[in-house]
Amino acid sequence: MDKILCSVIVPMYNEEEVVTETYKRLTGVMDSIGENYEIIFINDGSRDNTKAILSEICENNKKIKMIDFARNFGHQVAITAGMDYARGECMVIIDGDLQDPPELIPEMIKIWRNGYDVVYGKRISRRGETLFKKFTAKAYYRILRSLTNVDIPVDTGDFRLIDRKVCEALKQLPERSRYVRGLVSWVGFKQTAIEFERNERFAGKTKYPLKKMLKLAMDGIMSFSYKPLKLASYIGAILSGMSFLYLIIVVFKKLFSPESVQTGWTSLIAVSLFFNGIILLMLGIIGEYIGRIYEEAKGRPLYIINELLNMEDRIGPRYNIQYHEREPKP
Ligand code: UDP
Ligand code: MG
Repeated sequence: MDKILCSVIVPMYNEEEVVTETYKRLTGVMDSIGENYEIIFINDGSRDNTKAILSEICENNKKIKMIDFARNFGHQVAITAGMDYARGECMVIIDGDLQDPPELIPEMIKIWRNGYDVVYGKRISRRGETLFKKFTAKAYYRILRSLTNVDIPVDTGDFRLIDRKVCEALKQLPERSRYVRGLVSWVGFKQTAIEFERNERFAGKTKYPLKKMLKLAMDGIMSFSYKPLKLASYIGAILSGMSFLYLIIVVFKKLFSPESVQTGWTSLIAVSLFFNGIILLMLGIIGEYIGRIYEEAKGRPLYIINELLNMEDRIGPRYNIQYHEREPKP
């Protein structure tokens, strides 16, 4: 088996408008390095022509591989599958929409050769994104940092180069709600940043609607910190202390000016609503964690694969799947 220097991992979800261009730009850059490489596209259950285009590319170029998911499992899971199947000495995770410039890869490889195990892309600017996204992203990375003990760098996405040994370490982390950039920080190793300007999407629309973004954001916080739970108990302690003080005041009032009690309806409702709100919020936080425990306890595989293309060298017991051609119908 030939040695592969670099595996490029590219998740693709409904990206028919960009696939061909991404393929061209990536192969252009990778060819210029002059080393053996592979590009692994993960078709994350696309409903458009992405799969057909990728299959055709794979047909013509054996360096291009495809992992076809049985349905949409999400961006983070797609990246994970790419890492599971990659054979390179190092691997680069890059978005399929050309927002992360492939031209940065040779530079990343150079830094890796100088002894770094993780080279992550740090966005110094984000072109073509809404003010809302820029602001929430900025705020979020800072909140995340303050809530977790893991040193997650601010303003970085999943665009990064990782060494083989980092990948092997990541494979040992079985968790289901994956927040890959956090996990990469968690495993440690020698890490460094490379700054870049995040471009506009080449074509198409973002595949991260608000709902998915919120889920990712929650995963980031919940899988690296239980501070929200601590917060719940702090707030609980403070509120019950304050309630106790107020109770004493109320009892005194009742004893010394009984008529004041009759005017207390509004405050009663206010207190009741406020406390119920807080309690529900706390229950929600606990629920989030319990939901995640449930997900882990079920122990389902992270993803289901429909088909692998150009991966004959890695089908077998290690990857736990075998394929046979379907008999044509008579
Ligand atoms: N993606 C994916 N599965 C999903 C959503 C997104 O594989 O469920 C891929 C998508 O095709 C793209 C990358 O993840 O290559 C980043 O997604 P996108 O560009 O939509 O996110 P944004 O850059 O807007 O945050
Ligand atoms: Mg994008």
